Amino acid sequence: MKGIGVSPGIVIGKVLLKEEKKIIIEKKDIINCEDEVKRYKVAMENSKSEIQDIYNNVLKSMGEKEATIFEAHLMILEDPEMLQQIEKKIQDDKVNAEWALKEISEMFIAMFDAMDNEYMKERAADIKDVTARLMKKLLNIEDVNFSQLANEVVIVARDLTPSDTSQIDKKKVLGFITEIGGRTSHSAIMARTLEIPAIVAVKDIASIVKNGDLIVFDGEEGLIYINPEEKIVKLYEEKKEEYNRYQKELDLLIGKESITTDGIKVELSANIGTPKDLESVLNNDGEGIGLYRSEFLYMDRTSAPTEQEQYEAYKEVAQKMKNKPVVIRTLDVGGDKELDYLNLPSEMNPFLGYRAIRVCLDKVDIFKTQLRAILRASAYGNIKIMFPMISSIEELRAAKAILEEVKNDLHKENIAFNEKLEVGIMIEIPAAAIISDLFAREVDFFSIGTNDLIQYTTAVDRMNEKISHLYNPFHPALLRLVKMVIDNAHKENKWVGMCGEVAGDPKLIPVLIGMGLDEFSMSPISILKARGIIRNISQEKMRDLAQQVVNLPTATEVEKFIEKNINLKN
Ligand code: PEP
Ligand code: MG
Repeated sequence: MKGIGVSPGIVIGKVLLKEEKKIIIEKKDIINCEDEVKRYKVAMENSKSEIQDIYNNVLKSMGEKEATIFEAHLMILEDPEMLQQIEKKIQDDKVNAEWALKEISEMFIAMFDAMDNEYMKERAADIKDVTARLMKKLLNIEDVNFSQLANEVVIVARDLTPSDTSQIDKKKVLGFITEIGGRTSHSAIMARTLEIPAIVAVKDIASIVKNGDLIVFDGEEGLIYINPEEKIVKLYEEKKEEYNRYQKELDLLIGKESITTDGIKVELSANIGTPKDLESVLNNDGEGIGLYRSEFLYMDRTSAPTEQEQYEAYKEVAQKMKNKPVVIRTLDVGGDKELDYLNLPSEMNPFLGYRAIRVCLDKVDIFKTQLRAILRASAYGNIKIMFPMISSIEELRAAKAILEEVKNDLHKENIAFNEKLEVGIMIEIPAAAIISDLFAREVDFFSIGTNDLIQYTTAVDRMNEKISHLYNPFHPALLRLVKMVIDNAHKENKWVGMCGEVAGDPKLIPVLIGMGLDEFSMSPISILKARGIIRNISQEKMRDLAQQVVNLPTATEVEKFIEKNINLKN
């Protein structure tokens, strides 16, 4: 079988399926209500002990703050009010426990949700979580917990949500394969950040394999073998050794400059989602953080993080990076990143919809809280702010005006921040690229987000595996836009980086060097390889190469031309 290899490394291991059973709740008449209540109580006790275990684990591994949510869940299961009503419904209406649970919990959720009070609304989300767990217990649906695995496994799933990937225990999960997604879907990005080999877009794999099957793959080439013969296993064992040797060779580049043979120095930074990812950045000698996807702080919870929580996370990153640059991107939700508590509407075209800066300019309170936290943290390092999904000058000005308001508030309160903090935007919408000459006058820097820029330029949904062959970073239209953006930034003496996946693409790095890109931000695991490439090329020669590729008519010709003209052995 074949899919899209999105995170390198060789995997040989046993399958663990993440099963996605649809939960269907039917109303059933019950004769023996006593037994039904008993069944319900057993499920509840099991849920309680499960939550207690999670609470203990989270408390140990992440701390008290993160664990409080599970404490709240326990309290719900111990609250007599709702539980008695469920029991009563089973007895009075002579219905099954699932139905009673559904009816009563929906009533409580609606009641809390309707209250004009953030705290109460959070309780509604907690009840939803708890009842979902209890329902699964009643229906005998086992959830796999990726943070508590006994053996080494290869996860196979239809999809992995950000909340799944954030639970993954790197020591136990050898790799993963999903049915949907592309190179830039969030599961793929997380795989690279976690340094776990992965393949996505493998049609029907979750219905083809069984738990315990032996699976072998190379996370770069995308080929998958299920229960292969001994010969293949041997071959991949050798490949694995070779891969490990290659990784060791790359380590020799730690501490070296990212400089071309003709003396042009660039910055090789890392993309991160949470402070936890810093370990990988430091191991791979990242020269800064070119993209801190702050939205991960907002995920896996029932309400937005407070100013203090955000401040601590941003400060931790700034301090650990010493004085190296840390570009914090403001909240980029919507698209494939959902947050239940924001109640974002479902849309026909979520990638063209209510997302990122559009949400922030609408929900100004959430935006201001984040800006305050970033500004406060800026006193502790070299933080820069970046706005995502900017499509017009008006949006940029509106975002900057809110930033000014927040700065004024902090002045009034005598709270310190970096007055000279740089403000930039992502160039990920063609409209912004096309008028980048105008944007360059109003910002300190650009970072080109090719993940979205490709999808919007070529009208190819980055998540849709059916058309993933059309999602092509070698498309001459993309390369022309990138060149235009770099030139426009430089005309105004502004620096320009790239934080989309193209920045770490070994074949395109020489082209970007030729175009004069100043900063490359990528998954930490790609940094040393990129450094090796850059140290072996001259910018002058690459300028010619870049000039020629933007005049080629097709993506295939662009790719072939690069392959022919550049030796990518390093
Ligand atoms: C991008 O669009 O290129 C980008 C880096 O942002 P994200 O992948 O988070 O949309
Ligand atoms: Mg983007």
